[in-house]
Amino acid sequence: MAAPFLEFDNVSKSFRGVSAVDSVSLSVPRGHVRALLGENGAGKSTLIKMLTGAYGTDSGEIRLDGKRIDNQPPSATLERGVVAIYQEFNLVPQLSVAQNIFLGRFPGRRGWLDRKTLVAEAEKILARLGLPIDPQARVDDLNVAEQQLVEIAKALSRELSVLVMDEPTAALSDTETTTLFEIIRGLRASGVCILYISHRMSEIFALADTVTVLKDGQHVGTHDVAAVDRDGLVRMMIGRELGAFYPPKGARSGEEVFSVRDFCADGRFDVDSLVIRKGEIVGIAGLEGQGQRDFARALGGAQVVDRGEVRIHGVAVDVSTPAQAIASGIGFIPDDRKQEGLALLRSCLENIALGSLDRRRKLRVFVDRRAERSFVKAAIESLQVRLRSPSQPVADLSGGNQQKVVLAKALGMQPKVLVLAEPTRGVDVGAKREIYNLIRGLADKGIGVLVVSSELPELIGLCDRIVVMAGGSIVNELADEAISEEAIMRAATHEHA
Ligand code: ADP
Ligand code: MG
Repeated sequence: MAAPFLEFDNVSKSFRGVSAVDSVSLSVPRGHVRALLGENGAGKSTLIKMLTGAYGTDSGEIRLDGKRIDNQPPSATLERGVVAIYQEFNLVPQLSVAQNIFLGRFPGRRGWLDRKTLVAEAEKILARLGLPIDPQARVDDLNVAEQQLVEIAKALSRELSVLVMDEPTAALSDTETTTLFEIIRGLRASGVCILYISHRMSEIFALADTVTVLKDGQHVGTHDVAAVDRDGLVRMMIGRELGAFYPPKGARSGEEVFSVRDFCADGRFDVDSLVIRKGEIVGIAGLEGQGQRDFARALGGAQVVDRGEVRIHGVAVDVSTPAQAIASGIGFIPDDRKQEGLALLRSCLENIALGSLDRRRKLRVFVDRRAERSFVKAAIESLQVRLRSPSQPVADLSGGNQQKVVLAKALGMQPKVLVLAEPTRGVDVGAKREIYNLIRGLADKGIGVLVVSSELPELIGLCDRIVVMAGGSIVNELADEAISEEAIMRAATHEHA
């Protein structure tokens, strides 16, 4: 590797006697993207905060270009071009985009704030980054993704030597993420040293040169991304073999919980028959865009169908609207929790309580607030959602905890059937395992579970039976020992008349 530019040399930090970062040594050259990977609590953020000067170190040294930069005020580190974008926003909501970008260093003329220059400079930066944001807009009028982009623009308006990003894509859409990746690649080409924290394996493989895995504050290993695969990284992160990652398969009875017959939306999907039996988790596999997503959405009432029959415990039910589907006993977890699953700026309490509000209405008007709080508290405990307080905005939580909030909301409606689309997208491995256990627990309790996922290992690890969709129809069904990645791919890619 090229000469080290940024070096962590035996750096340690503990909080009240509990070790958060334990003798970590890393070195990263210029023009390089290093991913940092690790379960929640592995020490990633603490490491970064010692770099920026937000935290001091207990021992060890951090050097930039051979000179020590640890234990200095954050302003001194910033002066050296070390800039971090955290998960939590550091914007002033009442100020404009332009004012936020240049906060603390307004371009002035004779000491006066020159508003025109400010807006023009901000416009230049936003244009260079290809960000369609009005520099004069007030930050509190922007959505979460736009605020994140302003946060990024603010960082990039500086002369950078090291850029740190702590899960920058959590609030971004796919298009925005693509834009961000272009920007990061440009920075790498111009010699910036980049530390990139993300739970999304695909991003790490797309973007990073090398990846460092941390566990319990310790450095597990650093590898070229070309020399590792997903499973290997997961094993390093969780420190055990994958077998134990998925819960044991369930005990099934012949009793039918859920059935779909001749269910069809023209040009999208046409499902002849699908049955879920008691205790069973059924998966839907297929190549991208074979109707599986629309099928799941239709079961949740979020997609119009032409015809079809849906039965729960033998009784025909209505899924013509989301409200009807819920009333019928179908809980639907959409694949895009940021757009559909959650009100991001609202509190965890509101999000969890929202779905089942009617259950706690007295005289159809007043909501029983005490019942609401205790319901939410119980949901947070049973799902092990990690948060500071139920009144914390959902946008603050990690992907895994956001997904648990979505689950808590759906479970509050006491569904008989749960339809989940991409249930662990953007979720770290630790939380993944918890979510799998939770889903298995629901199936064991007799809730029919249907999972649509583009991650084959997830389907194979979790499901008792997998149906494969191609061209909108179910083309194959695999159970137990017959389930394998190869069998699924063979069915999914088979030509169908
Ligand atoms: P990660 O970013 O990998 O999720 P963190 O660096 O946030 O991990 O946390 C590492 C450990 O340090 C955790 O056990 C966490 O609880 C603890 N920790 C982090 N910040 C603080 C703090 N300010 N006070 C006390 N403990 C902290
Ligand atoms: Mg963190």
